[in-house]
Amino acid sequence: MSVDTAGKKSSIATILTAAYEDGAGSVTPPIVQTSLFTFEDYDAFEDRATGRTNQPIYTRVQNPTVSAFENMMAKIETGEAAVAFASGMAAISSSILAFIKSGDRLAAVENVYPDSFRFLEHILKPMGVGVTYHSVGAFENDPDLLDGVTMAYLESPNSMMFETVDVAKVAAHARRHNCMTLIDNSWATPIFQRPLELGIDIVIHSASKYISGHSDTVAGVVISNQQTITQIREHSLTLLGGKLAPFEAFLLLRGLRTLNIRMMAHQASANIFIERLEKTENIVKINSPKAGSVPGLTGRAGLFSVELDPKIDVRSLCNHLRIFKLGVSWGGFESLVVPTKITLAQAGEKNSLQEFNVSANLLRLSIGLEDVEDLWADFASALSQSIV
Ligand SMILES: *Cc1c(COP(=O)(O)O)cnc(C)c1O
Repeated sequence: MSVDTAGKKSSIATILTAAYEDGAGSVTPPIVQTSLFTFEDYDAFEDRATGRTNQPIYTRVQNPTVSAFENMMAKIETGEAAVAFASGMAAISSSILAFIKSGDRLAAVENVYPDSFRFLEHILKPMGVGVTYHSVGAFENDPDLLDGVTMAYLESPNSMMFETVDVAKVAAHARRHNCMTLIDNSWATPIFQRPLELGIDIVIHSASKYISGHSDTVAGVVISNQQTITQIREHSLTLLGGKLAPFEAFLLLRGLRTLNIRMMAHQASANIFIERLEKTENIVKINSPKAGSVPGLTGRAGLFSVELDPKIDVRSLCNHLRIFKLGVSWGGFESLVVPTKITLAQAGEKNSLQEFNVSANLLRLSIGLEDVEDLWADFASALSQSIV
């Protein structure tokens, strides 16, 4: 698992743990808690304003601590540049709005993250953008699906159902139709999938999940080539203003130091869990892509869903859990469950998850960093006490 940085191959683990270099010997970056940066004289100010120099001018657009996080993300996703946002949703909406205008068409994969779905439905559609949803199979097998489409919006695996798409195949179809491709890579992280290497144009992350890893920050980040990132930074970051705070960038960099070993630990525990779930009564189906299930996916993250037999009372199961907590989000150190019945009730509207194939007795599990034997004992015990 190595990426090319400045012409020399370095493994991701080594990039993630490289000391910050500011010339003063500090291995971590300073938190540059300022709103603005001043200039020595008129000429320096004018040079910056006209783009002859590139030092930070105002923290809404650029800040050194935030840049340190962006640079690390660009390296590990093998992109030329990155731009950070105050949330995953700010990253998603700002990336789309930087390139989509009224009259354009956007094709999204089914079962995208529910708030991404709502953004497409409640903000993009009323702007006059044509939004359509297609199955993973249609994206892969219909080479003309993207004919006349401005942007293909992917999430692989997608939310709740964890269906994967052959990313390189869709990227190749899109290229033939001059269609821009964007993928939400929050689940796999660059440890398990690097979509830019598979031909995708824009990678986004909810950095609130595995990138942070500590359930203490809400953030987002976008990685692409320099031109695309400049467009997003100057257009939608500057004008919509969803910037990341320097302190949160510091927390994210701190989280990134252990991304590689955390993902390996999540994977090891998820593998054990799934092996056992496959042999457990009243588990009807497990939705969990594993390493190699599509080209380019090299590992299994700790987030998956299981369909329970109708004999299992999901309310009782949830109430019997002791280590697993009930809550949204995922990707942190703590294990969590979400019964889909609750997220659908929260949605209070038709969304893609309801229209398509989510069963009422579906439970999403996020396997954290606890001892896997303790976790399994907790789950197995709650399950056995919940048969009606
Ligand atoms: C959480 C999540 C988002 C949204 O990210 P926020 O940081 O909560 O705004 C987007 N995509 C996926 C897959 C997510 O799980």
